[in-house]
Amino acid sequence: MSIPAEIRVREVGPRDGFQNEPETIATADKISLINALGRTGLKRIEVTSFVRADVIPQLSDAAEVLTGINLPDGVSASVLIPNRKGLENALAHRSNFDEVNVFLSASETHNKRNVNRTVAESVAGLTEVLGVAGGEGLRREAVISTSFGCPFEGKVDPARVIGLAADLAEAGADEIGFGDTTGMANPVQVREFFELAERELGGVELTAHFHNTRGQGLANVLAALEAGVTSFESSFGELGGCPVPAGATGNIATEDLVSMVEEMGIGTGIDLEALLGVSRQVRDVLGRPLGSHTLVAGPVDWSPASER
Ligand code: ZN
Repeated sequence: MSIPAEIRVREVGPRDGFQNEPETIATADKISLINALGRTGLKRIEVTSFVRADVIPQLSDAAEVLTGINLPDGVSASVLIPNRKGLENALAHRSNFDEVNVFLSASETHNKRNVNRTVAESVAGLTEVLGVAGGEGLRREAVISTSFGCPFEGKVDPARVIGLAADLAEAGADEIGFGDTTGMANPVQVREFFELAERELGGVELTAHFHNTRGQGLANVLAALEAGVTSFESSFGELGGCPVPAGATGNIATEDLVSMVEEMGIGTGIDLEALLGVSRQVRDVLGRPLGSHTLVAGPVDWSPASER
């Protein structure tokens, strides 16, 4: 078994997490949390999304967040863009971010429920957005939700997902994220999928985005590592989830990911204690326990003097 010596981690909590938590977090708290995340060694942070405020009120302060944050040099801020209108709104603050992230679902039913478009309509719309974003010098990630399974349609054909990824790469995406949006993937499936994707999709960065809906998130990380994946997305505190199915838990926790892979000898560049400090900060803001295991148990080398 050969596993990579280092991985890249994109923190998606400020978007994927804040969007899907029931509470709306105050703008000042968001800015403080993002600034703190930017000082943990994380090099990639998805900071907000320019979605319609009436659809996702939790992110209606996107412009204030984007102009209020202050990230160190070398930390890349990305913004989730739903459509051309969202891109135009984000571009009013072009100097405040480095990357865009566009998305669609691999399955027709999930895509229809999520963005009210067919998958073909989404590909056409995202192709236009990716073209404009490229002209602005922005790095471009395209995320394919329900890549491993759809709560309405069941298993998704890997060939279909890889075909969509090829279309998005052709449209200019530098990176394709594969989302297990409702936690349906298993490790054997993940390993086979990424081995195929690595063969079929040359020249584009492949990123794994796992949810812990059924407790299999880190097992799927290991399977992706074994297939050669070196880029992952996760959420501090295990914030977030997905509105479908109701009550589902969210992304794998960044601190659980960092704890596991660092113990395996894989470098992340992230200071786990500093990251846990930010997760404690958001736990205090929300005033309730979070799903992250390492936040509860402490790091493996935890000592009685450590804060938890
Ligand atoms: Zn997610």
